[in-house]
Amino acid sequence: MPEIIEDAVQPKAWYTALPRPQYATLEKVADDGWYAAYKLPNQIYAIYEPRHFQEVISFLVLGEKKALMVDTGMGFKPIRPMVESLTGLPVMVVNTHSHFDHIGGNWEFQEGYVLDTEPSRHRMANGLTHDEVKKNLVGDSTVGPYPEGFDPETYHIKPAPHWHFIKEGHEFDLGGRTLKVISTPGHSPDSLMLADDGNHLLFTGDTVYPATMYAHLSAPDGMMSEQGTYRRTMRRVADAYSGYTIICSHNEPLRPGSMLTAIADAFDGIEAGTLPYAVDSKGLKKYSFDGFAITTF
Ligand SMILES: [Zn+2]
Repeated sequence: MPEIIEDAVQPKAWYTALPRPQYATLEKVADDGWYAAYKLPNQIYAIYEPRHFQEVISFLVLGEKKALMVDTGMGFKPIRPMVESLTGLPVMVVNTHSHFDHIGGNWEFQEGYVLDTEPSRHRMANGLTHDEVKKNLVGDSTVGPYPEGFDPETYHIKPAPHWHFIKEGHEFDLGGRTLKVISTPGHSPDSLMLADDGNHLLFTGDTVYPATMYAHLSAPDGMMSEQGTYRRTMRRVADAYSGYTIICSHNEPLRPGSMLTAIADAFDGIEAGTLPYAVDSKGLKKYSFDGFAITTF
């Protein structure tokens, strides 16, 4: 019999895991009460939202001529003032995918990019309504007060109709540094990773991070997870990038590339049907591994 758990997605009393240990090893360079910015190696800032259970992290990557913002957070508070406090370079934005917690501040930026899929085109044109995102505000999802000006009754994600749609192989040239787009569907159809080959870094978005990864998501606009696709993506990136350092979009940013192989192996194990799992009140299965977990139907 599988273990019964309350919620496979939001860990019970999630905030008791804070502060996460890796942040003690990083220099904090700014904190406005909602966004906390930390300096990573290789001219990268992590802009972390530690007070919502998603603990999403956006990244600002500096080149010699331009900066690239990797995601724009949940949109609880404008993020551009924080970005402009960290760099004077012109800023482009790329979304690792178009889930709500990665696109909330898109509207604040002039130049933005996302992988070209039907669901991402729909999201950039329409944003997300209050009804579509309000489930992320229930219970103890946020600790402490909301940012000034935030209204939980009207919270929604604004559209970004000016966004550009890109494909695998697209390169962001920042001057002295190039980030290359890899299409990595599975967590969502429009998930991408960014390879910084010059520095052996891989930005993994929500496809890989040190917490519970979602292979179960569904949405009426087609922005859904697909377990078999996710499994194939993981083997492909594990084969190519396990020697890189990976930079993850939730909880803690830095992990060794060996985690790619561990997750690819985990998906193979789930597929084989031999691994133990827990099940929650909605019937979601949660498979737990060393340093991460995976939820599926
Ligand atoms: Zn996501």
